[in-house]
Amino acid sequence: MTTIEKHLDDTTFATYESEVRSYCRNWPAVFDTAEGAWLTSVDGKQYLDFFAGAGALNYGHNHPALAEPLIDYLVRGGITHGLDMSTRAKGEFLRTFADKILTPRGLDYKVQFPGPTGTNAVESALKLARKVTGRESIISFTNAFHGMTLGSLSVTGNAAKRAGAGVPLVHTTPMPFDNYFDGTVEDFGWFERVLDDQGSGLNRPAAVIVETVQGEGGVNVARTAWLRALAELCHDREILLIVDDVQMGCGRTGEFFSFEFAGITPDIVTLSKSIGGYGLPLALTLMKPELDVWAPGEHNGTFRGNNPAFVTATAALNQFWSDDLLTRDVHRKGAMIAEVFEELATTHDGVSHRGRGMVRGLVFDEPGQAGEVCALAYEAGLLAETSGPEDQVVKLLPPLTIDEDDLDHGLGILADAVAQVNPARTSGVTA
Ligand code: PMP
Repeated sequence: MTTIEKHLDDTTFATYESEVRSYCRNWPAVFDTAEGAWLTSVDGKQYLDFFAGAGALNYGHNHPALAEPLIDYLVRGGITHGLDMSTRAKGEFLRTFADKILTPRGLDYKVQFPGPTGTNAVESALKLARKVTGRESIISFTNAFHGMTLGSLSVTGNAAKRAGAGVPLVHTTPMPFDNYFDGTVEDFGWFERVLDDQGSGLNRPAAVIVETVQGEGGVNVARTAWLRALAELCHDREILLIVDDVQMGCGRTGEFFSFEFAGITPDIVTLSKSIGGYGLPLALTLMKPELDVWAPGEHNGTFRGNNPAFVTATAALNQFWSDDLLTRDVHRKGAMIAEVFEELATTHDGVSHRGRGMVRGLVFDEPGQAGEVCALAYEAGLLAETSGPEDQVVKLLPPLTIDEDDLDHGLGILADAVAQVNPARTSGVTA
């Protein structure tokens, strides 16, 4: 161990970093380098990454097709910081995004660059919806997660996260997400009724904000029919539909946008996490052109033009979205995960699974078991996190580019961990 490594043990972080730190508590390794789906710690141990920066690393760590243009850009003195000034890097990104993503899908959106995080995109989407409609109320869904700033928290479900606000989170109304009542109550019964009932007390909403798959909320997957009915309801009542694709966009569910499969066109879309391609911060708020009523600078921010991220974002769009190979890969590898999860669910009591594309959740009736599985997986060199209101779901977000052998290897670690935590009902778990 070098002197520096000796100083980088647990105590460094416990001594100097705020108590707010979180992931490093469950994964105390000190990470140093990474390649593809693997991270290496300062003491040389390798970890397989089924977490992928919470969806910010869909193309894995340090992909050479993204690293090379970034290095070239830095070496030639390309602009690093440019507020929202026009730069070559931004122009190339805008053109590539239009050519590779919007035009082939028949989508007509103007692109806003808010601050570079997901919550920045959500805040701008909410603000824009209120400005366009002149209404204040926003509809969100049970178990939604949209970020940690006040506007985003106001449309987030989790009680503990909401409590952190310290002020009332107002002007929003939660509605049941798809299947909230396990199919026992008609899905839109409540929402339609309160919209139409002059005695309901619901102010006419400006917008509905929804995730097609709720990532933090426990990998809850909205069905096509539910999403279509929601889009229709919003359209009929002149309520704007915002799809928050911060975690599920950029191919996580297969197609570039997670709503494509349902054949709906949201009024506003938020993107962040993997849009920068390389784990560099970048966010977009996409809006139908007629909604672009912003006055210049009305929604502002110092770090809107992250030019190195434009470079890697452009490279990622060229590398991965010039054909449908990645989409097909995601569906294939997603099915591999689902197959292993199905076997685990059939052979272990109190275990079920759900997901779409390469976001998959293994759900435990006894919530603590999900955390135990993730802890054992970590010991065996696999990073996977829990999600859901009771942390009852092991959520898998491997890089979309992961090798099938690595995927198999990680699923094997998980299956072993499940077997230790929740002994099999019958033999024959294979992974
Ligand atoms: N929206 C969704 C759907 C998310 O999953 C997240 C982050 N997990 C956010 C918004 C917030 O993004 P950020 O953490 O970059 O602010």
